[in-house]
Amino acid sequence: MSDVLNVAEIFGNNVFNEKVMRERLPKDVFKKMKKTMEDGAELDPSIAGAVAHAMKEWAIERGATHYTHWFQPLTGVTAEKHDSFISAPNSEGKVIMEFSGKELIKGEPDASSFPSGGLRATFEARGYTAWDCTSPAFLREDACGVTLCIPTAFCSYKGEALDQKTPLLRSMQAVDTQALRVLRLFGNTTSKRVVPSVGPEQEYFLVDRQKYLQRKDLIYTGRTLFGAMPPKGQELEDHYFGAIRERIGAYMKDLNVELWKLGVTAKTQHNEVAPAQHELAPIYDEANLAVDHNQMVMETMKKVASRHGLTCLLHEKPFAGVNGSGKHNNWSLTTDDGINLLNPGDTPHQNMQFLLVLACILKAVDVHADLLRESAADVGNDHRLGANEAPPAIISIFLGDQLEDVVDQLCSAGEATHSIKGGTLKTGVATLPDLDRDATDRNRTSPFAFTGNKFEFRMVGSSDSIAPANVVLNTIIAEAFKDAADELERADNFETTLHSMIKKMLMEHRRIIFNGNGYSDEWIAEAESRGLPHIRSMVDAIPVITTEKAINLYEKFGVFTKEELFSRAEVEYENYAKCINIEARTMIDMAGKQIIPAVIKYTTELAESLNSVKAACPEADISVQSELLVETSALLSDMKVALAALTDITEKCVAMDDGAAKAHAYHDEVMPAMAALRTPADKLEMIVDKDLWPFPSYGDLIFEV
Ligand code: ADP
Ligand code: MG
Repeated sequence: MSDVLNVAEIFGNNVFNEKVMRERLPKDVFKKMKKTMEDGAELDPSIAGAVAHAMKEWAIERGATHYTHWFQPLTGVTAEKHDSFISAPNSEGKVIMEFSGKELIKGEPDASSFPSGGLRATFEARGYTAWDCTSPAFLREDACGVTLCIPTAFCSYKGEALDQKTPLLRSMQAVDTQALRVLRLFGNTTSKRVVPSVGPEQEYFLVDRQKYLQRKDLIYTGRTLFGAMPPKGQELEDHYFGAIRERIGAYMKDLNVELWKLGVTAKTQHNEVAPAQHELAPIYDEANLAVDHNQMVMETMKKVASRHGLTCLLHEKPFAGVNGSGKHNNWSLTTDDGINLLNPGDTPHQNMQFLLVLACILKAVDVHADLLRESAADVGNDHRLGANEAPPAIISIFLGDQLEDVVDQLCSAGEATHSIKGGTLKTGVATLPDLDRDATDRNRTSPFAFTGNKFEFRMVGSSDSIAPANVVLNTIIAEAFKDAADELERADNFETTLHSMIKKMLMEHRRIIFNGNGYSDEWIAEAESRGLPHIRSMVDAIPVITTEKAINLYEKFGVFTKEELFSRAEVEYENYAKCINIEARTMIDMAGKQIIPAVIKYTTELAESLNSVKAACPEADISVQSELLVETSALLSDMKVALAALTDITEKCVAMDDGAAKAHAYHDEVMPAMAALRTPADKLEMIVDKDLWPFPSYGDLIFEV
């Protein structure tokens, strides 16, 4: 069959990976290049020309006309500026295709229009992109043609990070150095690197593109700002893991092929809880690559959707009343020779190295719970966290029965003597095999759950970069490792120091462990009594990145300077205010130009019909029409009042100077005014003739894809 899909053959076809390099680079250049990638070092300028040449030839053979430095500024999305390979025409008007080592290593986009949070004034336009050769170049095929994309870091003229990648790479270095110190203490002399492994599960919605185009809220803000609940929501739980519909299946198939070509290991796909919601998970990879790949996944999801007459919504809460979307950031630490530091083995109570790693993680997460919470803060995620569909806005750790029991033993007796076993699960059916049961159940309500040999940070927003969460994880764990290694390296008796250190850490930080239901109100009260921070919104979360504690942490490991932290806080405040401002203005637009006129039309028709019935048949009962008219007119007048209030408050807020106060004003004043406008509008949607309602309903959007 000619149309059989040969996945092994297409996988990585569009990636300038090690195999291609080996084939195309001179031997000595390849060797140096490989070493550079393995060490995560800087590219040797003496080989840059040869690498660029091979890359260009390879790209052009595959139809590429342009190249771009592909980077991740603080806008939340990726950025790129395309340059064609053509040279200036010669005297005969001919061009050649050029790409130098210099162009590969460094780019110089005009940086003045990217958010910098005051790190750079507009007149200081210089910014640099530098190739991160631990992430391979790839070819993107789309309506632009074929483009050679070079993953780069982005920084200012003075070297300050303006992107997601630079701090991530710095944090990876930090945890590598400190984790190696710990490993050496346990006698490991062979591992050369420790790398965070990350596997992000990505949730998304698909809606029909034609319907999407009729909704200004979706177009401008990515979420619905109005919309009454359809008769059916997700209560039957019939969508989760349900059979995948044909139209969606065709989309997923194309999406997988595109991702595989890009070397993204798209692995799992299924329907999610909410109608029209789905999930994709790749196989985990080194953090840096996982972050890049996740951006590629999000971009490709959107692109492929438009080819199928669909639109992919990555917003955290596109629809009120049904679940929103998040990302589960699965994280572990692995050595270059394949040892997972988070693997407890069969008898965790005897695995002292694992217990130290675990104790360090508990300490890190407890001490810096605020930073971890902040890393998941984005405007859309405020609608999810704490809303009984995503973890609460309180950080806690789920360890499961087996490990919690080991922790209990260590804390009470000072020594752990046994580990609970999973045992066997009896199915009770003769023809079915009995299954090995894991020692630990799952907990879907925990923000940070141990799942066998990794932690799953379940708070990240679906549209957000996973870089910030991993920057925090890497850095806080580097700090805990450093503290432990400092003490253990000095210890006269390693064994006893280790034992008492683990016990002390567990005693001090076990308050962060919570195995119960994170969605319950009792937990909120309990967490408060344990003194765990409960940070409810993005605007409340932002200041935690500029505390003394945060500055000390990040400066100690060279991940962020104080200036970079303050600039990031400023970018986030600005971003918050801008996003809510767009949402408010979109509501004002839709209410004033679409909903109110539609309701007026409806009431006018209702009044006319009422009059004509009265004229035709004076004794007819017209109470229904007149009651509807009264009710609708009252709601219409509520809407008008709420619209005026929202308009006023938005105008007031937009005039404020950027910063914390402005962001708070949007949160405290504009958001409630938006909710007040939505309430009567959604009630009206349930009354007004469907033909007159100016845009598709929730039912149309999520059930009729
Ligand atoms: P689940 O969380 O439902 O068990 P998986 O086991 O498939 O699902 O894991 C979800 C994600 O976690 C996948 O991207 C997977 O590759 C990733 N993952 C698995 N093991 C690790 C690990 N040791 N470190 C980091 N990520 C991992
Ligand atoms: Mg999972």
